[in-house]
Amino acid sequence: MFRLNNLIRTGTNLTRFKHTLVVVEHDNQKLSQVTLNTITAATKIPKNETVTCAVAGTGCGKVAEEVSRLAGVNKVLVVDDANLTGFLPEAVAPVIVDLQKKNNFTHIAFGSSALGKNVMPRVAALLDAQPVSDIIGIPDENTFVRTIYAGNAIQTVRVKDPVKIFTVRGTAFEAVKPNSAATPAEVAPAGVNATKSEKATFVNQQIAKSDRPSLTAAKVVVSGGRGLQNGENFKILYDLADTMNGAVGASRAAVDAGYVPNDLQIGQTGKIVAPELYIAVGVSGAIQHLAGMKDSKTIAAINKDPDAPIFQVADLGLVGDLFKEVPEMTKLLKK
Ligand SMILES: Cc1cc2nc3c(=O)[nH]c(=O)nc-3n(C[C@H](O)[C@H](O)[C@H](O)COP(=O)(O)OP(=O)(O)OC[C@H]3O[C@@H](n4cnc5c(N)ncnc54)[C@H](O)[C@@H]3O)c2cc1C
Repeated sequence: MFRLNNLIRTGTNLTRFKHTLVVVEHDNQKLSQVTLNTITAATKIPKNETVTCAVAGTGCGKVAEEVSRLAGVNKVLVVDDANLTGFLPEAVAPVIVDLQKKNNFTHIAFGSSALGKNVMPRVAALLDAQPVSDIIGIPDENTFVRTIYAGNAIQTVRVKDPVKIFTVRGTAFEAVKPNSAATPAEVAPAGVNATKSEKATFVNQQIAKSDRPSLTAAKVVVSGGRGLQNGENFKILYDLADTMNGAVGASRAAVDAGYVPNDLQIGQTGKIVAPELYIAVGVSGAIQHLAGMKDSKTIAAINKDPDAPIFQVADLGLVGDLFKEVPEMTKLLKK
């Protein structure tokens, strides 16, 4: 039988099946939430036939097994190499490029996280392709939707490169679930090695430890701004967040003033969240802050200034002194 590999004849057009590579984000032990959203985005690419996941790291076998049990994943390629210690983009990007040269994917997807934003443009440059960042929709296999101007305009772009390379905004796609019924996808060594970067060395990292849900995954986010006045006062936000198993976030003004560490920052230059409930406390609602939270399902605001712009996007607003209102709310919720 005559067979054209990867090709089907549709009318007079030859259409190549789409094969997507998802670059998995993890810490060698745990899978990152944004990968679950990125896999969903990959399965939504029209005409996409297979989703392959790349798990690159050091001692990352457990993560590869976990990925193989996710719905929609057809194959897991593993690059387990000591040269990937610290996930330096200088080491990870060439590995993804080699995977592409071996497998000729039509799409390469990354989560729009610090790692994805770091590695993706390098991969695109090495493959001489124009990348698309932070996509929120995929109307067809060559077209992507993304926001510009801090979320104030929506841009639709068509990519003409043979390989489409993009980062996925996690909050725009549901998280994929483990596929309990089906057999796990094949897990195989990728047949690609990492080389040690001569230009960068991983020295160490300091990870903020918290028992609370992570900011980007939490269903409730209580966020504080300059109105909190100092770091100690953030305790009233933690008390409120704890009554709802929520996470605490902050505006850039609060971060810049040293009230909280910058991994709590929400907005254009911080994290983008879309929880069920976002409570903005002592936050004015600057355009750069709204860029990080305006897709939240319900927005509540507490501010003493009735003209604060946050009230324009808030579903529920309370004009009052946060130092009185927040402890009051916590008390009521604890009842
Ligand atoms: C390029 C660029 C990128 C930026 N990126 C970000 C970003 O990612 N995230 C971000 O948040 N900002 C960002 N900013 C900064 C942004 O423009 C604002 O300066 C910032 O969001 C303001 O923070 P805020 O609302 O906490 O402070 P303010 O604007 O000072 O607002 C404080 C609010 O608290 C209220 N308040 C004070 N006391 C009380 C009280 N006792 N009770 C109740 N309410 C009270 C006040 O009425 C006021 O509305 C960026 C700016 C630029 C130029």
